[in-house]
Amino acid sequence: MQLLDGKSLAKKIEESVTLQAKEFKTRTHRVPGLAVILVGHDAASQAYVGMKKKACDRAGFYSVTHEMPDDISQEAIIKTIEMMNDNPNIDGILIQLPLPSHIDTTKILEVVSPSKDVDGFHPYNVGRLATGLDGFVPCTPLGVMELLREYNIDPKGKNCCIVGASNIVGKPMAALLLNANATVEICHIFTDDLKKHTLAADIILVGAGVINLIKEDMVREGAIVIDIGINRASDGRLVGDVDYDAVAPKTSYITPVPGGVGPMTIAMLLSNTLKAAQNHGENV
Ligand code: NAD
Repeated sequence: MQLLDGKSLAKKIEESVTLQAKEFKTRTHRVPGLAVILVGHDAASQAYVGMKKKACDRAGFYSVTHEMPDDISQEAIIKTIEMMNDNPNIDGILIQLPLPSHIDTTKILEVVSPSKDVDGFHPYNVGRLATGLDGFVPCTPLGVMELLREYNIDPKGKNCCIVGASNIVGKPMAALLLNANATVEICHIFTDDLKKHTLAADIILVGAGVINLIKEDMVREGAIVIDIGINRASDGRLVGDVDYDAVAPKTSYITPVPGGVGPMTIAMLLSNTLKAAQNHGENV
């Protein structure tokens, strides 16, 4: 069994992005800029936004966080996004999800200019990914693909079983793997006999948000297991969706939690923001 070390790879990518941001500054006399919109006081969301801000600082990016109260109106959020769309110091706009229930998330995501959509959630970029065109790809599944590439794991022709079908994890993961010529299956909460599907897989990618969802008897000998889940266990530890201690010895490769997919997500946010800045050039 070999660990897929997302922490080390993320560090390597961050160093490369930092260098490219410096070159970009020399050429354009400005630095890549990221605006984050954070609504409400969800502790996990605040922690994620804090990590993203620190990563921007390390890479030499400009970043600004718009913190808004839980009861903010949809119109006020839209107004702020429109301001960021027009702001020449901002290359990327990130809406930290989830938004409160009185806000129409789809509507909000559609206001973000597709050229600043560094999370890849705008239908324009979703469509480009689905058709295999260049665009912005959601950071978490993009990070998984980078991790596979780093370890020379080519999904081409492999049976990939994705567990979880959200717009931010499972669906874009499926599109990326399909574009890489894998055979892709997507399982979700209504899938009958999950084990039947995971047992047939060469690569299992799970992002469901359920502790110990993937157990030892659901994984075939030598499979590759990518754990995208991030959950807080009752003792306070961060754990994934895989029963790690029991599953790991059966696998050929596995991602740890923490230190696997999580750090890659932040590295890809930096990389997407740099890409947006390079696309914008001197003038946003
Ligand atoms: P979500 O709630 O939007 O979607 C969960 C998906 O899992 C749904 O499609 C649901 O049908 C499926 N699912 C739930 N329970 C299931 C079960 N028992 N069997 C099979 N399928 C089941 O969640 P999300 O936003 O996609 O996040 C999923 C997980 O990934 C969470 O743990 C989240 O914290 C984590 N996550 C991690 C990163 C990262 O950077 N590593 C980024 C985003 C999300």
